[in-house]
Amino acid sequence: GATIGIIGSGQLGRMIGMAAAQLGYRIHVYAPESGPANDVAFTHTRGAYDDAAALAAFAAQVDVVTYEFENVAAEPIAGLGAKVRPSTRSLEVAQDRLAEKAFVEALGGRPARWAPVPDRAALDAAIEAVGCPAVLKTTRFGYDGKGQARLASTADAYAAWSAIGGAPAVLEAFVPFEHEFSILVVRGGDGASLSYPPVHNVHRDGILDVSRIPAPAPVAAQWTEAAALAGRVADALGHVGVLCLEFFCGAEGPVFNEMAPRVHNSGHWTIEGAVTSQFENHVRAICGLPLGPTAATGQSIAMTNLIGDDVGEWPALFGEPGAHVHLYGKHEARPGRKMGHVTRVEPFAT
Ligand code: ATP
Ligand code: MG
Ligand code: MG
Repeated sequence: GATIGIIGSGQLGRMIGMAAAQLGYRIHVYAPESGPANDVAFTHTRGAYDDAAALAAFAAQVDVVTYEFENVAAEPIAGLGAKVRPSTRSLEVAQDRLAEKAFVEALGGRPARWAPVPDRAALDAAIEAVGCPAVLKTTRFGYDGKGQARLASTADAYAAWSAIGGAPAVLEAFVPFEHEFSILVVRGGDGASLSYPPVHNVHRDGILDVSRIPAPAPVAAQWTEAAALAGRVADALGHVGVLCLEFFCGAEGPVFNEMAPRVHNSGHWTIEGAVTSQFENHVRAICGLPLGPTAATGQSIAMTNLIGDDVGEWPALFGEPGAHVHLYGKHEARPGRKMGHVTRVEPFAT
């Protein structure tokens, strides 16, 4: 069988690898250190994400290269050429909040009011333009709510700027949303695409806590517009693989939050809760196989992250019939660290 190279060694790479193994592929991980993905990898190249020579040597040993997170320099990966799927275009756009908002706006999407904050001096003007309450976010490298600070009023400007460490940032209006949701799209190299049912996401301390399907009625009402936008984004990027767009359910329609050019935590439910998991469909897409159906296999599905000390709940979970427990094999539980997840599927009534 062919070998899939994965840049990154986290749990997303691990679950891509598990799906790939089922389809007969081998996995070669590229990362500076070993992580959850190594347990399922056939081989591992240790190298820095910006080491173009090491990346090229790795790519020469595999048939296709994909990535499990977007916080890596695009340039050295772009040097790997057409083997990289999704292409580095998706990486470039999705790793920079300014580029991502501009890209989505050009396709008719509506982010919350925003203004770039390249330096401290620009923050006051940005507050003037955006208003308060607002959220200041680093343009790059943020995840799980890291690199963000909220401003209740202008008086918080100094604290917010120092909280994010003075990196280039963007100021966004705070969206008083009732619901948050995401759309997962998978697009093949032939341009065919499918989307999964809308996912209702609840965050705790900036980290995804629970994903639920079906989403509540207000989300369902905004789904057509949001899914159409996700499809346009995937097409415009020429994206191959899974793409996730996050939205707030706003009073005047879906408010675009951010996107991820990869499999996503809000798609973990698809392993047991959809006909074809996001991981398998990602593999199918990047390997040129037909995509699998994305329909839900139950009438209600909930995926709950096991974070940090939620480790204490594991024994009880194993005693719960129908609780699908996933542990990522991380040795050390730290506050805010994603250690695993559990999915519960309520079958359709017969
Ligand atoms: P991820 O792990 O999803 O990549 P991230 O660090 O990139 O997270 P965001 O998705 O931008 O962060 O924000 C994390 C969460 O914080 C959001 O899901 C939402 O709950 C809240 N949030 C972010 N921006 C806003 C906003 N403008 N208005 C209201 N809530 C917000
Ligand atoms: Mg993000
Ligand atoms: Mg997010």
